[in-house]
Amino acid sequence: LAPKVSGSYLRQMFIDTHAHLYHQRFDGDRNEMVQRALDAGVQRLYLPNIDEASIDTMHALVAAFPKACFPMMGLHPCSVEKNSTVLLDKMRTLLDSGDYCAVGEIGIDLYWDKSLLKEQQDAFRLQIGWAKELKLPIVIHCRESFDEVFAIVQEENAPELTGVFHCFTGSAEEALKVKNLGGFYLGIGGVVTFKNGGLVETLPEIGLDRLVLETDAPFLAPVPHRGKRNESGYIPVIAQKVADALQTSLAEVQQVTTMNALSLFQHG
Ligand SMILES: [Zn+2]
Repeated sequence: LAPKVSGSYLRQMFIDTHAHLYHQRFDGDRNEMVQRALDAGVQRLYLPNIDEASIDTMHALVAAFPKACFPMMGLHPCSVEKNSTVLLDKMRTLLDSGDYCAVGEIGIDLYWDKSLLKEQQDAFRLQIGWAKELKLPIVIHCRESFDEVFAIVQEENAPELTGVFHCFTGSAEEALKVKNLGGFYLGIGGVVTFKNGGLVETLPEIGLDRLVLETDAPFLAPVPHRGKRNESGYIPVIAQKVADALQTSLAEVQQVTTMNALSLFQHG
């Protein structure tokens, strides 16, 4: 499965596997922000969709940076409504164009609103089915819902199903369950730099082999930017913290996570 990319290319490149760079908080300086990421060596930026409103702004960003920005399509669990059929149908039609690198972001969120759990589960299952059909990876949101998400992924798991548990902050035991699914990665972001984040303690048990890096920009900025707007140019800060936790080099973290991300999103 190793992508065919040259060693020197890999040595220079970081990847942000999860960034909402079309978000309105970047409206004032979006092009400059993307350029800062490119200058920091973060050369590929993967954009998870959220809802109907994010589709056009995401497409506009991809049109501006076609070599650096890669769009996904899917309905975020926080945007699932009592009846999301019309929007889900629209997203499925868009996916059929073949212009998207993944189905995302999808999943379950029990932090904000638990009343639509059944609807979130149904939308999640439906979108996993699309991913299997279209042979695309899934990008999973699992805030306060690891068990509920894992139950569905395990049920739907198949040789052709791959993906990433984005913003993974769970235990080493949960990481092992994800790894044992076969085709799944763990997305590590700014939380690794938080004193109370817990990841520095669990990462040595989890290891580097299935990790990818992400910012979740504009959210979850790493220390020393915590609480401010996050951006993709901070990926090396996150990578350094992962390297420290694993007692390995920044170069090792950069190369393994880049290779993993390329495998996940199937770039040759
Ligand atoms: Zn996200």
